[in-house]
Amino acid sequence: MSFKSDIEIAQEAKPKVIGEIADYLSIEDEYVECYGKHKAKIDYNLLDRYAEKENGKLILVTAINPTPAGEGKTTTTVGLGDALSKIGKKTVIALREPSLGPVFGVKGGAAGGGYAQVVPMEDINLHFTGDIHAVTTANNLIAALMDNHIQQGNDLNIDVRRIIWKRCLDMNDRQLRFMVNGLGGKANGTPREDGFDISVASEIMAVLCLSNDLEDLKSKVARIIVAYTYEGKPVTVGNLKAQGAVAALLKDALKPNLVQTLEHTPAFIHGGPFANIAHGCNSVMATKIALKLGDYVVTEAGFGADLGAEKFLDIKCRLSGLKPDAVVIVATARALKLHGGVLKADLNNENVAALEKGIENLLKHVENITGVFGLPAVVAINRFPTDTEAELSYIENRCKELNVNVILSEVWAKGGEGGVALAQEVVKVIEKGENHFRFAYDETLTIREKIEAIATKIYGADGVDYIGSSLKQIEEIEALGYGNLPICMAKTQYSLSDDPKKLARPSGFRITVRNIKPSIGAGFVVAITGDIMTMPGLPKVPAAEMIDVDRTGKISGLF
Ligand code: ADP
Ligand code: MG
Repeated sequence: MSFKSDIEIAQEAKPKVIGEIADYLSIEDEYVECYGKHKAKIDYNLLDRYAEKENGKLILVTAINPTPAGEGKTTTTVGLGDALSKIGKKTVIALREPSLGPVFGVKGGAAGGGYAQVVPMEDINLHFTGDIHAVTTANNLIAALMDNHIQQGNDLNIDVRRIIWKRCLDMNDRQLRFMVNGLGGKANGTPREDGFDISVASEIMAVLCLSNDLEDLKSKVARIIVAYTYEGKPVTVGNLKAQGAVAALLKDALKPNLVQTLEHTPAFIHGGPFANIAHGCNSVMATKIALKLGDYVVTEAGFGADLGAEKFLDIKCRLSGLKPDAVVIVATARALKLHGGVLKADLNNENVAALEKGIENLLKHVENITGVFGLPAVVAINRFPTDTEAELSYIENRCKELNVNVILSEVWAKGGEGGVALAQEVVKVIEKGENHFRFAYDETLTIREKIEAIATKIYGADGVDYIGSSLKQIEEIEALGYGNLPICMAKTQYSLSDDPKKLARPSGFRITVRNIKPSIGAGFVVAITGDIMTMPGLPKVPAAEMIDVDRTGKISGLF
C-alpha cells in the first residue's frame, strides 16, 4: 500500500482566506489581525465583549500511553472537529504550537495527519506567527537583566552559584546544555556555570499558556523565581522589575492564532509548553476564546492520559476554571499490541492474543477518566491501514462488554466523513449530561499527599519514595507558602509507572521522586521522577536533512 504524505495532502488543499473563517465564527473585524492570507491572531479583548455569552461544550482528546507505533491524538482531534462540523455543529479546534526542535529532529510536524490536518502546515511547523520567538526573547530579557544586575553591584545579593534561570533557544542543540560564560574579565560579566533550555521548556511558555489575561500574565511573570540569594531567599522577576517589559514583549504572543483544517473547520493553534516539566496543552486564552465562538470545542493534551489529561484537568482546568464535557481516549490496535508485548517489527501481523494483554492499558485510562475524574469518556479506535477486522472487533467487543463507549475512527483516511460516528457518540454522551467532574486531589493537601494521590489513583502505584534532596525541597517550598499549588508530574510518557519498560497495566510498583522544582510563576510545583531533558539533542539522521524549499518557495520533506 502506498499513501500520500501529510505534506502532499496538505499542499493539495484549497484553504479559504482566513477572513472567511473569522466571518463564519462571527468575529467582528476589529478583533481579527491577519498574518498573511491564511493565519490571523484574534485579539483577546474579544473576551470582554463576550463575557456574558454562554460557553460551548469542551471535549478533551487524550490517549493511551504512547508507543513508537504512534497513536494519532492530533489527527483524531482535527478529524473529530471536522466531523462535528459535518453534522452541523459549530466547532472550533484548539491545539498546541509545534516547537522547531522536534520539527528538525525526529518527531516531524504536529499538525495532524492524513486527511485530518490543519493548514498551512509548513507555516505552523516553522516560524508561524512568531510566538515562540517572542517567548525566547522574553525569557532572554530576564537573563540579560539578571546578569546586568549582578554586574552593576548585585544589590539583591544574588548567589551566582544558585541561579536557576537559563537562556533559551527554539532548537535541539545539546552543545548549549552546559557552559561557562561571562568570561573575559571585569568588563564582561561574572564567570559562571550556565546552560540553555529549549524555548518551549521555559517557564515563560507555561505562564503564557496559563494566563487568563495580560494583567494575570504580568503578575505570574513577576512571581517567577530566577535565583536565590546568599541567604537562600528566592529572587524573582518582580525583584528585577522585569515583568512589565516581559509582558510588553508577549502582548501579541498572548493572542491566539486562527487557522483552518483541510475541511475549513476553524482551529486555534496557540502555545506549546513541554508536557513533562510543564503541563503540555495549548493556551487557556485560546480555549476560552474558542468556547465563546463555537458550540463545540475539541482540544488535545500531550502524551498519554496519565500525564496529559491529568495535567489538563488538575492544572489547566483548576487554574482557569474550565470544565470539560467529555473526554475522547485514542487507542490504536498497533499500540495496544506493543503494550501486549509484540515487537515493533511484527506489528503488521494480526495478533489478537497480544491485544488481550495490551488493552489493559486503555482500560486503566478509561477507569481514571470516568472513575477518578467523573467525566464521560468515549474510546476512539484510530484505524491504521494494517489493522485487521479481527483486531478491531476484539477491541470493540471488549469495550462493550465493560460498558465503555467505543467507536472506530477513520479520519486519517477519510477526513471528517470518517469521524461522523465518533462525533455523534460524543454529542450523545454530552447531551446525556452525566458529568461529575472532580479533581484527582484537593489543592489544600500537602505536596506529598498530592503526589501520592496522583501516583496511587492515576498510575496505580503502591506508593511514592523520595530520594536525594526532594523531601528537603518540598519543605522549603511549603515554608515559602507555596504548598497549595497543584503538582506537575514529570514522568516517562511510555508507562503508567516511572519505568518506560513496564507496559500495559503494571502493578506492584512504586514511584520514585528525585527532584522538586518550583514553577511559582506558572503556578505549579514540578515533581521529577527521572531524567528530564530541557534541551534535547538531534538524532544521527535529523529530519532537517529531508527538508527543502524550491525556487517558488514551496517546501518539501516536512512530515
Ligand atoms: P499524536 O498527536 O498522538 O502525537 P499525531 O496525530 O500527530 O499523533 O500522529 C502521528 C503520526 O501518525 C502522523 O504522521 C500521522 O499522519 C500518523 N497517523 C495518525 N493516525 C494514523 C492512521 N490512522 N493511519 C496511518 N497513520 C496515522
Ligand atoms: Mg499531537
